[in-house]
Amino acid sequence: MIDTDVVIIGAGPCGLFQVFELGLLGLKAEVVDSTRQPGGQCAELYPDKPIYDIPGIPVCSGQELTDALLRQIEPFNCGMHLQEEVTVVRKDRDDSFHVETNAGTQFHAKAVVIAGGVGSFQPRKLRVPGAEDFEGRSLHYRVQDPTQFAGQRLVILGGGDSALDWVLELANVAEHITLVHRRDEYRAVPDSVNKMRKLVADGKIDVIESAKATAIDGVDGSIKTITIQPREGEPVEVPADHVLVFFGLAPKLGPIAEWGLNINRKTVNVDTEKFETSEPGIYAVGDINYYAGKKKLILCGFHEAALAAFAIKQRIEPDKKVHVQYTTTSPIMRERLGLQD
Ligand SMILES: Cc1cc2nc3c(=O)[nH]c(=O)nc-3n(C[C@H](O)[C@H](O)[C@H](O)COP(=O)(O)OP(=O)(O)OC[C@H]3O[C@@H](n4cnc5c(N)ncnc54)[C@H](O)[C@@H]3O)c2cc1C
Repeated sequence: MIDTDVVIIGAGPCGLFQVFELGLLGLKAEVVDSTRQPGGQCAELYPDKPIYDIPGIPVCSGQELTDALLRQIEPFNCGMHLQEEVTVVRKDRDDSFHVETNAGTQFHAKAVVIAGGVGSFQPRKLRVPGAEDFEGRSLHYRVQDPTQFAGQRLVILGGGDSALDWVLELANVAEHITLVHRRDEYRAVPDSVNKMRKLVADGKIDVIESAKATAIDGVDGSIKTITIQPREGEPVEVPADHVLVFFGLAPKLGPIAEWGLNINRKTVNVDTEKFETSEPGIYAVGDINYYAGKKKLILCGFHEAALAAFAIKQRIEPDKKVHVQYTTTSPIMRERLGLQD
């Protein structure tokens, strides 16, 4: 059980900035995100695209903004729990919260901030009959332990960076790899595509382009063959021990919808003073929240995170007045930032 002041659900830009605003007020946070890297949409959907409307930063890419936010929160040593989805948020009798992830991590917190954006990013699934029977055993949507594929026959589906990264990484580990892509052009970076083509030319892997998987056969969760249907011609049955699927990630509101909060379509209603939801002690900032005039912009989420932090401080220390202090001049804030005077 991890004891903390605040659990932040979501490591997108607003969740990360929430750590900073809480840290300035002396509050400790733990951050949970279902993806394998922090940054939310900025890192998952547009790491290389330029953003022009972050105050004071004329231009930065999605990844650069994420990296800068991570540097900014370094002094506060927040816990970062990646590849874990928050599934349970429950209020205890003493008005604190019990938060749990699908990996079994448990938190005891005085407040919760939902910074869940457009939802938790989940891998897009392979849609062939019976695919779920193999999931987790011989059909995989992420790689936890590459050594499990040593000496195995793999079929890797996809044409983006993840698919090609794993083709390159596992080429010397697996007995054989067949890459299957629905097009003949790739979304992955050109360097990875060139390296993959070299492996094909050297006879180290096979590639089937303009084709898709239509069936999987096997017994007791173990795949034996996967059927690949090219755009033209007859289907091919490829023997395989494991199938790895990298069709990208899609956001799902997921468990957030089940926590009894006042929901407005796929967003959570909040007030504009504290950014508190219908459940006292649970706040929502960034794209996930809704109020009259809401704009899904990073800078709006930053403002929301600042006000939510003040409200949380007040909730945790109801008898003290929370004063606005400037980072330029406040000795306590400078100390929290780890600055020497
Ligand atoms: C192509 C594109 C370009 C954009 N350009 C701009 C721009 O120029 N300027 C601008 O201001 N905005 C831009 N945006 C919008 C901006 O990216 C979003 O407003 C911003 O990412 C919202 O941040 P967030 O932290 O609220 O949520 P997100 O970035 O969506 O992050 C939310 C995180 O929460 C996680 N999560 C959700 N539920 C759970 C759960 N139950 N358990 C664990 N984790 C969970 C998700 O996995 C995700 O990582 C752009 C968006 C796109 C798609």
